[in-house]
Amino acid sequence: MKQSQFFSKTQKNAPAGEVSVNAQFLTRGGFVDKLMAGVYTILPLGLRVMKKIEQIIREEIDAIGGQEFEMPALHPKENWEKTGRWSKMDDLYKVKDASGREFALGPTHEEVIAPLMKKFVSSYKDLPFAAYQFQTKFRMELRAKSGILRGREFLMKDLYSFHIAEKDLDAYYEKAKKAYFKIFERAGLKEKTYLAFASGGSFSKYSHEFQTVTAAGEDTIYICEKCQNAVNKEIKSETPVCPVCGGKKFKEEKAIEVGNIFKLMDKFTKPFDLKVMDADGKEKMLVMGCYGIGLSRLMGTIVEVHHDEKGIIWPESVAPFGVHLISLGKDKEAEEIYKNLLAKNIEVLFDDRDVSAGEKFADADLIGIPWRVLVSEKSLAAGGVEVKKRKEKTGKVVSKKEIADLIH
Ligand code: ATP
Ligand code: MG
Repeated sequence: MKQSQFFSKTQKNAPAGEVSVNAQFLTRGGFVDKLMAGVYTILPLGLRVMKKIEQIIREEIDAIGGQEFEMPALHPKENWEKTGRWSKMDDLYKVKDASGREFALGPTHEEVIAPLMKKFVSSYKDLPFAAYQFQTKFRMELRAKSGILRGREFLMKDLYSFHIAEKDLDAYYEKAKKAYFKIFERAGLKEKTYLAFASGGSFSKYSHEFQTVTAAGEDTIYICEKCQNAVNKEIKSETPVCPVCGGKKFKEEKAIEVGNIFKLMDKFTKPFDLKVMDADGKEKMLVMGCYGIGLSRLMGTIVEVHHDEKGIIWPESVAPFGVHLISLGKDKEAEEIYKNLLAKNIEVLFDDRDVSAGEKFADADLIGIPWRVLVSEKSLAAGGVEVKKRKEKTGKVVSKKEIADLIH
């Protein structure tokens, strides 16, 4: 992709009112644009990152048997009344049409998937199974001030699993937990992400949150010094004991909840009477699990964890491009390198703009692509191009032929 062709441009200064690091860098770099508080356009650069994140999640959820599909965002009021959440869920957006009919804008999808499954699942032989989607959610967030970390409209992966017995749900839940750790590891958050025990609501003792430690976090967690599991502050009792190892010493940290997994039991199958015949011909109410990850929140969290004072430092797995190719008055040579790298399936952003060297360097640091390849009079005289990693201070000159090998 040639940078001169991007309709979105970088900005020198952060927009007024954006206080969080993720929103400042993502806006200045041309990844997102704020339409209003908590609602963002994902620009071409940002969409490339989101698609990488989506693909990582897809691969790991497919690997635990998830089937991808897509549910609507506009829901009938009746489904939400059946579960009692039409009146109880205070962040639910309600809309009315001209005839006075009311709808919910989906903040989550139990009210759609449970009645859907009633149409398809009739026997224990159909179980267990799990289905997921990548879908836009709507929530009436009152404190939408953390950039894309807390949106009123945001992209979520939501997975739902259905089982005939609690022990099957338990087994699948453990699989999902492992898949989540893989996802966060692949997204570059392994060192900072902890499994935190949180309240399970009224239906089970605990739910589990995946909490990434950063100063921008809205949550407070206590990490057990012995086993490295964590507890969310909201459930922590006066004299806390680690629910995993019994440890009593904790480290307090600010963290962002990047994922949440829940044993819902029969909370949503009961209202929709989702029963099947078991092997002995007896009717059984199904139990259910749900597993969410906010993709836009994950993108923002990666920025909170991976940046310096100049801009973003994307982990290679989610970077919008692999290489940022910069030409300083050597467009012909750069064009040739550009084509060679593309031919080797390397994703290249080619800065072919007619702007100063200083501006190109500053933008490369802001956008944060893992490798910078510079073609200049000086580099050519030294025998090739200068290759530098975003996270390192100095680069080295390599011949044009060596670039692809070095980067691969
Ligand atoms: P929070 O406590 O931060 O409001 P939640 O408990 O309401 O989160 P869930 O309902 O479990 O979140 O949603 C699953 C996942 O969706 C969360 O772990 C998070 O990654 C993401 N998420 C939730 N709310 C938002 C939001 N307003 N903006 C962006 N992502 C969100
Ligand atoms: Mg919430």
